[in-house]
Amino acid sequence: MPPVDKPGYEKYDIVFIGGGSGGVAGSRRAASYGARVALIEISEKLGGTCVNVGCVPKKIMWHAADIADKIRHAEGYQFKGPGIGAPQFDWSTFKPQRDAYIHRLNGIYDKNVEKEGVELHYGAARVLSPTEVQVTRNDGTKYTLKTDKVCVATGGRPTIPRDEDIPGASLGINSDGFFDLAAQPKRVAVVGAGYIAVELAGVFHTLGSEVHMFIRGETVLRTFDPTLQEVLTGWMKHTGINFHHGTHIKRVDGKPGQPLTVHTDKGEAVEVDTLLWAIGRHANTEDLGLEELGVELDKKGDVVVDEWQQSRVPGIYALGDVAGKALLTPVAIAAGRRLSNRLFGGEKFKKDKLDYNDIPTVVFSHPPIGTVGLTEPEARKKYGDANIKIYKSSFRALYFSMIPEEHKEPSTYKLICAGPEERVVGIHIIGLGSDEAMQGFAVAVKMGARKEDLDNTVAIHPTSGEELVTLR
Ligand code: FAD
Ligand code: NDP
Repeated sequence: MPPVDKPGYEKYDIVFIGGGSGGVAGSRRAASYGARVALIEISEKLGGTCVNVGCVPKKIMWHAADIADKIRHAEGYQFKGPGIGAPQFDWSTFKPQRDAYIHRLNGIYDKNVEKEGVELHYGAARVLSPTEVQVTRNDGTKYTLKTDKVCVATGGRPTIPRDEDIPGASLGINSDGFFDLAAQPKRVAVVGAGYIAVELAGVFHTLGSEVHMFIRGETVLRTFDPTLQEVLTGWMKHTGINFHHGTHIKRVDGKPGQPLTVHTDKGEAVEVDTLLWAIGRHANTEDLGLEELGVELDKKGDVVVDEWQQSRVPGIYALGDVAGKALLTPVAIAAGRRLSNRLFGGEKFKKDKLDYNDIPTVVFSHPPIGTVGLTEPEARKKYGDANIKIYKSSFRALYFSMIPEEHKEPSTYKLICAGPEERVVGIHIIGLGSDEAMQGFAVAVKMGARKEDLDNTVAIHPTSGEELVTLR
């Protein structure tokens, strides 16, 4: 069933708006139970942010950067020959190759949706009533789908300052623009200190660009555990990323396609080839008609939902980034699947919903970060200082034993335990392999593991992960 241009049913059981992580997962799961499902996507390609301008192309770039580091490290392992120690990355040939892979993924998404029997509509959706959704196709034609329920999964997009607030701001790009770059810029300014700023600054720098980070505070990732903030900020500086702390951008001078000068409130003026804004994202809730129907949006524009993904209007649900909580692909997917389980999966799933506690997450920085549960300040606030015990280990992964001192990345593993039984309420790790190590430990935390349970688990040697079961 390819994309259709008119309703195939008199009435649907549910209409999903947005063909990203949440909408695709939720619609497929609903259709798998035999529900009549329509999925509406504005961009004429499926996969949403994650597939097109997020996790997937980002992780590919992170792998490219990782290989560049490995080529540098290879000298320490006595690899000889041209290119060893001096990686030459050809961004302009790599980009089309990466794009072609994403295009293939779009096709796989189309097929999966089709196989499951979801009716796909390409166009802009607008909710006319809790039982009517209008589709406006690219050619301007409109039609209306009648439905029992509506699920809004329209995601979000990058925030960028207005030129009225910061003159010249629009000369910069955002993370979407990062994936459009046809060639590698020599000098880059990154504004922001969150996931995207850290990850993309790391990619640029490791692949050889000169990078300037403009951050408002003293460290990156200010919402993460302080140990992770310190270790990552310190290492990014050590590797040669230029930090401009405590700065706000005042003005950007230049012309599109030419060097730009970034001016800060501290009087600095830095010339770069590309300016990347990475200061957060906001929900795609304009033009959906939600507020007119009584759906509550918060100050940021996110849809307010209860624990069942139900908005203020019965029959209208929202999930994923548009609901503003834990903006992560697996969260959108899990929320979508669980909502459809509950609505269409029968008695067994009557109480199914996503538990937003202890969601693990990884930052693909250099080195990577893995984290689950409470940060140390959060744990101290919740349980009181006297009830918290911290275990921490800083070390260098064995891999770095053969590599010159200046390239030896740090690893720090931290365990936060609460109460007399030392329940593990937070794990925060940074260092080689942290991205892959985290998933299993997140299972342990979700199951309510105590420090004693980790101690009773035999270590796997030699790995970095073994540090977490041998902490004293
Ligand atoms: P989206 O995937 O954004 O999908 C929403 C869809 O709705 C889009 O396809 C959009 O075109 C469509 N739409 C919008 N308005 C309308 C309308 N009116 N009518 C019809 N369709 C509409 N998460 C991770 O877990 N791991 C990562 O490594 C990671 N890396 C990231 C890197 C970057 C650079 C970015 C930007 C994000 C990253 N994320 C990552 C976050 C992740 O991409 C999002 O959390 C996830 O895509 C959210 O899924 P969603 O379904 O809520 O929204
Ligand atoms: P984040 O919310 O992670 O970070 C934005 C950062 O920008 C803030 O931490 C803030 O840092 C800084 N900031 C905010 N406003 C301004 C401003 N006006 N001027 C300067 N700096 C500002 O947003 P991102 O855009 O990085 O990412 C969006 C979300 O996407 C993430 O929260 C995450 O959920 C998801 N994501 C997940 C990834 C993963 O799973 N690996 C990767 C990428 C994105 P401060 O307060 O310190 O100034």
